[in-house]
Amino acid sequence: MKKPHRLTGRVAPLTIGHEFSGRIEALGDGVTGWNVGDRVTANGSLTCGKCEACRSGRYNICQKLGFLGVGDDGAFADYVVVEAAKLFAIPDGVDQRSAAVAEPLACGVHATHLLGDIRGKDVVIIGPGIIGIGAFFGAKYAGAGRILVSGVGEYRRELIEKYGGTYIDVSKVDLEEYVASWTDGRLADVVYECLGAEKTLDQAIRISKPGAKIMVMGVFGKKPVVDMNTLQEAERVLYTSQAHVNEIAEALDFMKEGKINADELITREVTLDTLVEDGFEYLIKHGPEQIKVLINISGEC
Ligand SMILES: [Zn+2]
Repeated sequence: MKKPHRLTGRVAPLTIGHEFSGRIEALGDGVTGWNVGDRVTANGSLTCGKCEACRSGRYNICQKLGFLGVGDDGAFADYVVVEAAKLFAIPDGVDQRSAAVAEPLACGVHATHLLGDIRGKDVVIIGPGIIGIGAFFGAKYAGAGRILVSGVGEYRRELIEKYGGTYIDVSKVDLEEYVASWTDGRLADVVYECLGAEKTLDQAIRISKPGAKIMVMGVFGKKPVVDMNTLQEAERVLYTSQAHVNEIAEALDFMKEGKINADELITREVTLDTLVEDGFEYLIKHGPEQIKVLINISGEC
């Protein structure tokens, strides 16, 4: 990132990290409603507060949207500065570790809100990383009917089945054939694409029934070719979702109510000193096995 950020004007090098929890160490001038020592997590977005999207409450699509760690110094540090309006109190009964996972889960809850009423629907989620898992919980607690999660390998089967979903390993099972049979040929009502690849976007379209909703959450490294005719010929609707607004509060509530056990999602813990070797380098080799790697900075977790 050599160009100054469009909102903050900052350039690299910056401290990275935007999914975190902590305690308030100090308050800025004029901040009310919070106290030093409060346990908090935060929406890591950086927003202008002035554009039409920000003024309408949809600050996740701010014209100058940025994120801590990309547009300003982030949370892989002892201290991070966060706008008070982006803070969320961690409820009693939810520990610091769990709260650090609320942010990525909130993405799935937000995407689900955008889809409207999905109660009783057959839902397919392609890609079981932390975003896909957030979509799974978002859909589940929005009252979806059956939920099928597809991924490569067996790493997520236990988790998904424990929470009542169906899991398929697409290295062994053909997703399209499976969905056709799973729905008696009706195909899926709702599909979340959580990988960001042309192939999986194409599959998402092909496994969706006429009038279905397809939610794209993946971030695409390469511009995909999209089969617009299949979308258009049966009024399939393509949705997109960006981050979240206030859904961290809902993710924290799910944890408080015992609907999500974040310990099952934190698959590895490292410290700032061991982050490169035990975190990043480990992830390069063992990425698919991992859901969320927690960096324990304060030793409080
Ligand atoms: Zn804005």
